[in-house]
Parts: sequence; C-alpha cells; structure tokens
Amino acid sequence: MDLSELAKLPIIDCHTHFGGDDLGALEPMLEAEAEAGIDRVNILTVGFPGQVSADPVGIYAKARHPESIYLFAGLDQSFLGRDLDHRLTHSLARQAEIYAALGADGIKMLSGKPDARKESGIALDSVVYDDYFARLCEIDLPVLWHVNDPEEFWDPERAPEWAKAPGWLYDDTSPSSESLYLECERVLEKYPGLKIIFAHFYFLSDFLPRAAALLDRCPNVHFDLAPGIEMLHNFGKRPEQAREFFLKYQDRLIFGTDFSGSRLMLSRIWVVRNFLETDETFHVPTDDDLFWPDHRTTIRGIALPEAALKKIYAENFQRLVSAQPKALNVELAMAELDRLAMVSDALGTSPNMARRVAATLAA
Ligand SMILES: [Zn+2]
Repeated sequence: MDLSELAKLPIIDCHTHFGGDDLGALEPMLEAEAEAGIDRVNILTVGFPGQVSADPVGIYAKARHPESIYLFAGLDQSFLGRDLDHRLTHSLARQAEIYAALGADGIKMLSGKPDARKESGIALDSVVYDDYFARLCEIDLPVLWHVNDPEEFWDPERAPEWAKAPGWLYDDTSPSSESLYLECERVLEKYPGLKIIFAHFYFLSDFLPRAAALLDRCPNVHFDLAPGIEMLHNFGKRPEQAREFFLKYQDRLIFGTDFSGSRLMLSRIWVVRNFLETDETFHVPTDDDLFWPDHRTTIRGIALPEAALKKIYAENFQRLVSAQPKALNVELAMAELDRLAMVSDALGTSPNMARRVAATLAA
C-alpha cells in the first residue's frame, strides 16, 4: 500500500535522530516525517565516551518546534578517559536532574550496544550507574535504551552484508548477546520502577516467548519498533504468532523508525507502517543501506486493528512519557549550552555546536 493510503491517525515517531553540524537539516526531516503521516517526533541525541554529547542540537530542535518535538537527551560522557577540567563535568545522576529540569522528555542510552559496551568496559549493571538509575526512578524520567544487537551479528555466515560495513560483526572479544541481556536484566531487577523503552524490540523478535516473559515480569518495560530490519523478517517467519503477540502486548509496543535528518528515506517509515497496517507480502526497500543487500527479500504484514494501531502509534508513548512535549526552560538550557561549549573547547571539538546553538537561540 502507498504511504498516502495508510491510516490517518495521530502518530509519534519515538526513535529519530537529528545531529551533526547542519541545523538547517531539521525542517526537511520534519517535512519528510509529515509526508509519511507523522505529526510528532522524539529526537534521540547520543553521547559517546570521551566526547561531548550531541545535546545542543537536540535543544535547538526543541526550541524551534516546541509543540512537535520530544527530546531524549544523550548522556555527556566527555569525562570518561579524557584529561579534562572536571569542574566542567557532571555525574550521570546530576545530568538526569539537569536535563529533566531543562525540559528533556527522557534520556537516550546506547551503552548496551555491543561495540559501545566493549569500548567503555563498563558493565550495564556496574555501580557506576547506580546513583543515576536511582535518580531516574525518583524523578520519573524514562529512558530509551539500546541493548544488544541482532543475534546474527555474532555469526559471519548469517550476518547481512549491510551490517559488515559499519563494523557490526562481533567476535569473542565483544560481549556475548546473552551476557548483555543478563547485565541489563540485573538492572531491571534492581530498579523495577525504571521506565524503559528498549530500542529495536530489544532484539528479541526471533524469541517471542522470551520477549513475552520479560514484558510479563517487568510492567515498566516497553519495546520500540524501529528497524533493525531483522525484526520484520523474524516476525514474518511466524506471522500468526507475531500478530497474536502484537495484540496481546499492544499496550507495551511503541512506533519508531530510526529516521534521521541525514538520511531522509521515506521507505524506512513506510516499511514499518505497511507491516503494521496491511497483510501484504512486500519486498524490502532496497534504497536503505541498513536494509539491503540481504539474503531475506520479503516481509509480510500483520494488519492490526485500528484500536491497537492507535496505542502503538501514539497513546502508549504519551502515557509513558507525556501527552505533549515538555516545554524547554530556556534559561537552564542556555546554562547547559554554556557548559557544553566550554567542554567542547577543552576537548578541541570543532565545530563547537553548543556555542553555535546558544548564539542562534539568543538571536
Ligand atoms: Zn537509533
């Protein structure tokens, strides 16, 4: 079915990225999302160890479109492994407080992606994160967390070609998939109040009984539906079981696409919507280099009823996060931009996006 023929319902894309140094890429991104029927987006910014976070760009986006942009801020991990004046840095717990106060709607974490977990050397259930997770629970701030990767990324025979280029083929120097699940699930046990959206269906699309057991055990856990195209291939292997799962857990699944300002491929949105809304068997889009080339060629839709679509498209996210995007506290945002500008200077990061965004917002 054509994008224009799909359901006309309120839709929030809970998993998008906007970053880099081109602030002008924001409007084309929102226009493309609107063309695909999406009214509001949640922008996830990302922080990496030893680098300043991309949060200034997320703050910019929210300031420009306060009514349509949610922001899950990335953690500023510039303090890790860098010689920095640490009067400029904040603990993770303090960052959670600061971002909640300045108007972020949640926090994005990438710490459970195998390459990130390997690089940081910090276990997901390490004491390093204790105060931080405790604070997230206290202030009721949700987290969207990327933990694990598709199981075939550990198997050179089964890994799709598109995953090899960015280096997502893991060997035994990387943590195993099972060890990542164990670390993560110890966090869930310790902080049952933590509100979590696991990115990419928590990579359990081929293990629906395990996914169901986790959702039954942890009422605050949700899965987003952003491809990982393997997810849709796995559902297609047993479409009846997949449909049953979606109906049973329709309150726990959240629409997302991983759409980004730098890669405006509408087929990325279409493939998820067509899967949810129709019972068509259709070819994988070939214009997205995270979908294709692949030995798997077709996907079969599960044609969910409108009531389930409404929840997955918007209501679940609104219940978990908030009905409207939180307002940006400009004064607190400017103070954080000042701090990040100083961190960027100290690290020699160019361009200094925090300073650029602060200047743009002040103008
Ligand atoms: Zn993503």
